[in-house]
Amino acid sequence: MSGDEALRRTFLARTGQWLALTLASPSWTLAQQKPGDDPFTLGVASGDPTPDGIVLWTRLAPDPLNGGGMPRAAVEVDWQVAADEGMRRVIQRGRATATPDLAHAVHVEVSGLDPARWYWYQFKTGSHLSPVGRTRTAPGATNPLNRLSFAFASCQHYEQGFYTAYQHMAEEDLDLVVHLGDYIYEGGIARDRPRLHNGPEIMSLADYRNRHALYKTDANMQRVHALFPWIVTWDDHELDNNYAAEIAEDNAPREGFLERRANAYQAYYEHMPLRRTSMPQGSSMQLYRRLAFGDLAEFSVLDTRQYRTDQPCGDGNKPQCAEALSPQGGVLGSEQERWFLDGLQRSQRRWNIIAQQILMAKIDRGSDEPLYSMDQWSGYEVARNRILRFLHERKVANPVVLTGDIHSNWAADLKADFADPKSPTIGSEFVGTSITSGGDGSDSNPQAAAAFSRNPHLHFYNAQRGYVRCAVTPEQWQSDYRVVDYVSKPGSPVKTRASFVVEAGRPGIQKA
Ligand code: FE
Ligand code: CA
Repeated sequence: MSGDEALRRTFLARTGQWLALTLASPSWTLAQQKPGDDPFTLGVASGDPTPDGIVLWTRLAPDPLNGGGMPRAAVEVDWQVAADEGMRRVIQRGRATATPDLAHAVHVEVSGLDPARWYWYQFKTGSHLSPVGRTRTAPGATNPLNRLSFAFASCQHYEQGFYTAYQHMAEEDLDLVVHLGDYIYEGGIARDRPRLHNGPEIMSLADYRNRHALYKTDANMQRVHALFPWIVTWDDHELDNNYAAEIAEDNAPREGFLERRANAYQAYYEHMPLRRTSMPQGSSMQLYRRLAFGDLAEFSVLDTRQYRTDQPCGDGNKPQCAEALSPQGGVLGSEQERWFLDGLQRSQRRWNIIAQQILMAKIDRGSDEPLYSMDQWSGYEVARNRILRFLHERKVANPVVLTGDIHSNWAADLKADFADPKSPTIGSEFVGTSITSGGDGSDSNPQAAAAFSRNPHLHFYNAQRGYVRCAVTPEQWQSDYRVVDYVSKPGSPVKTRASFVVEAGRPGIQKA
């Protein structure tokens, strides 16, 4: 066991026993705590690391599933950041105000930290202490970085299983975690599920808050939030299945849907370690952003829901009708697309990671006639080609696309012309499966065999649950598909189902 490993294990043990730990802390001591009083039921989190800062998050909610249980008043919350897990060497402290209009959520943007370092943090309100969280700043923006290690995840339907994948993710040696959306699901309560939702389909702000709170009570996910900084973006279920901008799945009237969107976006902001720049404005929220890790990697984090045109051809798996080939169709909206391509053009970093939701590779899912998912980039052919052409012509260094949404693992080459296997390979796409959505899942699928013969750029398919672990160095990218055997009950082991690499300077996926 390395020194780091020993430290991490001690830390893990202590986050489980934070009462004992914080009682020993000389700076903050814990008074008598009545059971049921604890306002820190949703844990702590951190996110969006920069070389000198981080966002620290918590939300005061002694009664998390019933509106939080806080008085309708502002409450002071103290926070501190320490250089050690025992919170003895405190290097920064401050006070934040938790207000009822943001559900008593706290977002502290700490600055003035050192680059590429682990820090520990804790909140205190009244006589209550939060669990201790651990986080890590990014390396200096132009500093040489030899390795970045992270995991990405998506799609964690609470009813469809246990978050065993997170239990295993907590044991990984990571710098950060990336979440690609479907953090919550909006639906009501189903029958015969391993766990149950806390009410019918969510519509109001109170509904969305209680749903986020339910998901946040999961101990395995809380632990991963407390161990690593997260970079999050949403997909559709944070609001409504397969919505497009202002258009609901069921084409509900625009006014009412925008009100619902405002509720969903606000609750999302309240529950995520996001910066003030993402504070919702009415029914809009700016989520797309860029995060850099030394000279090695830059994440472009995209929002493929808020600005897209409606799914063409009636959504679903369809042949590409004229609408799917229309230059009017778009996924990112003109402003985000300009910002995105601009950033890629300017990037000086070795790997350009595109963290987004929907399958970018053109994958024919048909068995006789070609069928494509109209909710994915294949529903927006002109926009996809515009982006791939840009990556190719501007020689953007090592583009790697990360994708969620479809509850299955895939790996595919991004081609200049998907119909021509001899056309240049422009980049690589890793699609990560769900944490739970879809239930236990399976390793093979008769449809997959057909997909391989119809899509020569496809390298891997698997539909078990899990996450993808990525290790990035200046020479090579490696993705390990980590899968669990089942999620319908707790306790599955984890294994690496497949590993793939991308060599720097040579786009395309190779078997590790
Ligand atoms: Fe999903
Ligand atoms: Ca989705």
